[in-house]
Amino acid sequence: MFKKGTINTPSQTGMRPVRHRTSAYIRNSFLFVALGLFATAAALAVVDPNNGTTELPLIHAARQTLALPEPFPLPIGDFDTPFISETQIRPGDTLSALLQRLRIQEPRLQQFLAHDKNARAIYKLQPGRTLQAALDKDGRLVWLRYNHTPGTNENGHFVSKWLEVKPDGKGQFAAAERSEAADTQIRVAEGVISSSLFGATDAADIPDAITLQMTDILGSKIDFMQDIRRGDRFRIIYESYSHDGMEVGAGRILALEFINRDHPYEAVWFDPKDSSGAYYDFSGHSLKGAFLRTALKFTRISSTFGMRMHPLHRTWTGHQGVDYAAPKGTPIHSTSDGVVEFMGQKNGYGNVIIIKHGKHYSTLYAHQSRFASGLKQGETVEQGQLIGYVGATGWATGPHLHYEFRVDNRPIDPLSVNLPIAHTLEGPELKTFEHSVASYREHIHLLAELQSQQHVASR
Ligand SMILES: [Zn+2]
Repeated sequence: MFKKGTINTPSQTGMRPVRHRTSAYIRNSFLFVALGLFATAAALAVVDPNNGTTELPLIHAARQTLALPEPFPLPIGDFDTPFISETQIRPGDTLSALLQRLRIQEPRLQQFLAHDKNARAIYKLQPGRTLQAALDKDGRLVWLRYNHTPGTNENGHFVSKWLEVKPDGKGQFAAAERSEAADTQIRVAEGVISSSLFGATDAADIPDAITLQMTDILGSKIDFMQDIRRGDRFRIIYESYSHDGMEVGAGRILALEFINRDHPYEAVWFDPKDSSGAYYDFSGHSLKGAFLRTALKFTRISSTFGMRMHPLHRTWTGHQGVDYAAPKGTPIHSTSDGVVEFMGQKNGYGNVIIIKHGKHYSTLYAHQSRFASGLKQGETVEQGQLIGYVGATGWATGPHLHYEFRVDNRPIDPLSVNLPIAHTLEGPELKTFEHSVASYREHIHLLAELQSQQHVASR
């Protein structure tokens, strides 16, 4: 494997020399040293009930409080190391522009890429994907890589895929598809909300997929559309996939704590031998609630109005529902498993869906602009399933979702009902659970201590 160096090129838009990645590595280990001042835990012991305990390196995503290290030194005296540069494909890019940005001067390369049947995939030039090139000290091409979207292989392992083009030693080139299992790392991140949840996760370098997982996992506890407040904080431990030092994907959240309006909610992934995995709180209560706290799906778009959204009506006397102001077309989701009991128009309600959940409960979603295509009365729906879109039909002054929760056909505040917990671990299962989540719980608590120390120090 080649070592990575750095290439001195004029900074162009879209040009991303590998140096940045290398320094990100250093920054992470630097943070580690900083953390070590407070904590002795240098690795997170992950207990797998099937394979015993494995130690995984921890990488911190929170870097805002740390000074940058000295610039990465050039590899002095090691001029055989090829220089690697990288560029991202932009809309409207041409292959010759990309090769130029990578400083590749191989007159026959472009023709080869256009005609070789293995290499032609490169011509799709999908914006957002990256091309990397390694050049030797004389500027000759060592290899060119076109990175595809990563995916999973037949064993469910995360893999990186790329097309690799190399000189064949006879004055021509050869192209081949390559793939390699990505490295799994455990990342730890934390954040405080000042403007929005995505604002906080962006600042902590947390991928969107992880942010949305967090809102799903706690979807029956927190209404992320209405309940999020400035000063809410969170700590997350999650799997991250990387290849050659580049983050290529996010895995699963392993543990998290979210403090919403001073109330802590925690979640940990537990995957016992005999049943499928699920999230539990630290005491072993399942987090899969009977009902989601909101019928509106939290997305990057909805989050932008979430923080400044005022519920139009929050009182139950006289109104008997919760109104969520939201742009027309915002997706509406069933808050629980059930059967579509009514779907159509009802004067004040406009386009409305009523879903029956078991014998006593039902939920109602009014003023919809349209229903989900293909949905029919009498059909079963799952918790979280798309049923329609926000609108202003019926008696509505602006687009909003009017949501009712009913017990024996009487509207009632869902917060006032004690809904049964789906599942609580007991006996030997609870023992296994406690053993396997102990290190996560400790680590989350350690992060909480560090966060409060930082808070005291900064006052
Ligand atoms: Zn209403």
